[in-house]
Amino acid sequence: MIQPSDRVKAVPPYLFAEISKKIAEARKKGVDVISLGIGDPDMPTPDPVIEELCRAAHEPRNHQYPDYEGLFEFREAVAKWYKRRHEVTLDPDKEVLTLIGGKEGNLHLCLSIINPGDSTLVPVPGYTPYRTSTIFCSGYPIDVPLLEKNNFLPDLSSIPRGAAKDSKIIFVNYPNNPTGAVAGKEFYKELIDFATENDLIACSDNPYSEIGYDGYRPLSFLEVSGAKDVGIELNSLSKPFNMTGWRIGMAAGNEEVIKAMGIIKNNTDSGVFNAVQYAGIKALSLPDSVLERTLEIYQKRRDLVYNTLSSIGLKCNKPKGSLYMWVKVPEGHSSGTFAAMVLEKAGVVITPGAGYGKEGEGYFRISLTVPDARLTEAMERMRRVMR
Ligand SMILES: *Cc1c(COP(=O)(O)O)cnc(C)c1O
Repeated sequence: MIQPSDRVKAVPPYLFAEISKKIAEARKKGVDVISLGIGDPDMPTPDPVIEELCRAAHEPRNHQYPDYEGLFEFREAVAKWYKRRHEVTLDPDKEVLTLIGGKEGNLHLCLSIINPGDSTLVPVPGYTPYRTSTIFCSGYPIDVPLLEKNNFLPDLSSIPRGAAKDSKIIFVNYPNNPTGAVAGKEFYKELIDFATENDLIACSDNPYSEIGYDGYRPLSFLEVSGAKDVGIELNSLSKPFNMTGWRIGMAAGNEEVIKAMGIIKNNTDSGVFNAVQYAGIKALSLPDSVLERTLEIYQKRRDLVYNTLSSIGLKCNKPKGSLYMWVKVPEGHSSGTFAAMVLEKAGVVITPGAGYGKEGEGYFRISLTVPDARLTEAMERMRRVMR
């Protein structure tokens, strides 16, 4: 009999299995289900990026293996972009690595740093790959709760000394998925001190670094002095340029970490299709006005959801960044029972917070990556149900 490895068996069961089953049942019954569950931009990739892909795909030299560390031109474009957007100086040769998206970077960071038995510090609620990537390296994820009373920032001083000492990596993610929280310079300074004192690597997973509202510009971890001594940032073209399907991102920061990740990549995936990297260069050099138009649309959606939910007695913050609203479940419900009720009565899918770990219970997540008309319809249905 085929036995998958312990690491495969250690992956927690699909957290949204229950709700997926209910969605399938509702659709079978002919219900027009609207999903506010997925974090995947609905708007198309900008035309110039697509045109550049087509041009580069016609060039035979791009049909060969790419360099595992990425085209120098792409890494240079990343360095220029970090300079322009965040005032960060990076050496494209030593401090930047092309990634097949941020998710790939998470695993390969872990593979290049974690030994069996090491632990990592992972935020709860949080993006699940921090946990699974650790497990794949025979490491142990240690939960770091993100609580509303701390503005969903980890309380670093409450992490037990032993846990910090045994850990190799601490993961942070601001603007945050799923809570929509943001982090300021003070927090990153504390993080750098914490990483230095405990001799661990800080990984800022920052795919929403450009997604800010009301004029707010989210920070890059690398903007804070000392960041490169202790860590890296994982970033991605997926969210700001509507490119989730293209699979391209970057790791930037500490030279030793970038080098170690490169060794793993050289022996596993051989890098990103060069034509996609040329398209990526185009995306990174688009005028800021392209991004601003996208952000205006998300901001309107955020306001629509905030106004609707507030008016029907559901409590949430108005996020300054990210693509998510993190909303309190009403009294008498768990996140699971509330999501089931909203699906049954309104045909609307929301993500129960418990799926993001223990501290996610009591909340649900709404994603703003839904076309305006569908989002408006979903809000009307929720208003009716909550009356
Ligand atoms: C979307 C997302 C990513 C990265 O996605 P890729 O498409 O793999 O670049 C990473 N972290 C978080 C928290 C995300 O929400």
